[in-house]
Amino acid sequence: MSEWALSELLRPELGELTSYAPHAGEFAVRLDANEAPDLLAPDVRAALAEALGRIAFHRYPDARATLLREALAARTGVTPDEILVGTGSDEIISLLLTAVARPRARGGPAQVLTSTPTFVMYRLSALVRGLRVIEVPLDDGWDLPVASFERAIELGSPNLVFIASPNNPTGNLMSRDRLERIIQAAAGALVIVDEAYVDYAPRTQQDLLGKYPNVALLRTLSKVGFAALRIGWLMGPASLVRELDKVRLPYNLPTASQIAAALVLGSHGSELDRIARSVCSERERVASALGGVPRLGVSQSDANFLWIGTERPAGDVFADLAARGVLVRSFHQRGGRLAHRLRITIGTATENDALIAALSEVA
Ligand SMILES: *Cc1c(COP(=O)(O)O)cnc(C)c1O
Repeated sequence: MSEWALSELLRPELGELTSYAPHAGEFAVRLDANEAPDLLAPDVRAALAEALGRIAFHRYPDARATLLREALAARTGVTPDEILVGTGSDEIISLLLTAVARPRARGGPAQVLTSTPTFVMYRLSALVRGLRVIEVPLDDGWDLPVASFERAIELGSPNLVFIASPNNPTGNLMSRDRLERIIQAAAGALVIVDEAYVDYAPRTQQDLLGKYPNVALLRTLSKVGFAALRIGWLMGPASLVRELDKVRLPYNLPTASQIAAALVLGSHGSELDRIARSVCSERERVASALGGVPRLGVSQSDANFLWIGTERPAGDVFADLAARGVLVRSFHQRGGRLAHRLRITIGTATENDALIAALSEVA
């Protein structure tokens, strides 16, 4: 009998993947993960603590997340049955890639189309499910290249198209007319417009929902001050929500997260707006300060981070910042045009001052 070998049982794709590991270590200033800074008002914190103190800890969570979906519906203007909630939008991405993944008519796995650079979970989550991923490079302005997308759609007939707008890591909203042309070209596919950073953008793309049957949006509380709760949601046709709901685990959302999120979105909704406004005004201040630093290029941002071009290799600037206690995100390992790019999250005014001082020294 041959020896037992785990590798003989695993999906072959796992051999090429490593687990997602945020940068470890202690840093005085952490601006690497696009979280909002700690701006939570003491009275809101107290209200959350009080509500969490009343949880029935011996019971399973509400499997349908009724109160939370009602709070989301009230805030966004869609109906509760057009909303699916997940443990972060990451979970919803995995549900989409599990459900909307009928193998191709001629055999072979479903195809997933996205851009590059963009949020890495679309690709990772598709690969671990054995799906085929096509990545179209964004153009020189980090916007959507329509002709390349049209060609990829024609050749690949993807089931799913993921477009983050504002995009991570580039920070920009995609041009509206280009986005619509791609949605039209992908009429046979489901197009997911990921609005993780919509709270920091000058406009939403929610009107696409009424206009195109093949569009759904993703949103999250993670980037606007509540990453600890792991609350993300999809807004889209009720028929899609019903199918995804068959794949969702029944008790995916812990009671604590449901209660806290419903409270934040409901009676404390203005807290989210206040956090977003404060981050946006810091963003403009940091962008203009860094814009005056030689050897740096600062692109316009519609999100809570800046996409910075460096003259020196980004890996070197990253290491010099880390040595000064400031952690940012570098993409230098990806090479090419990312070898001179850093992504820097907007923090508190004090954290931002530390960043500006350090980066002015090492740029
Ligand atoms: C951070 C991020 C997410 C993940 O959000 P969670 O709700 O925390 O899972 C989704 N999409 C984009 C584009 C992001 O940058």
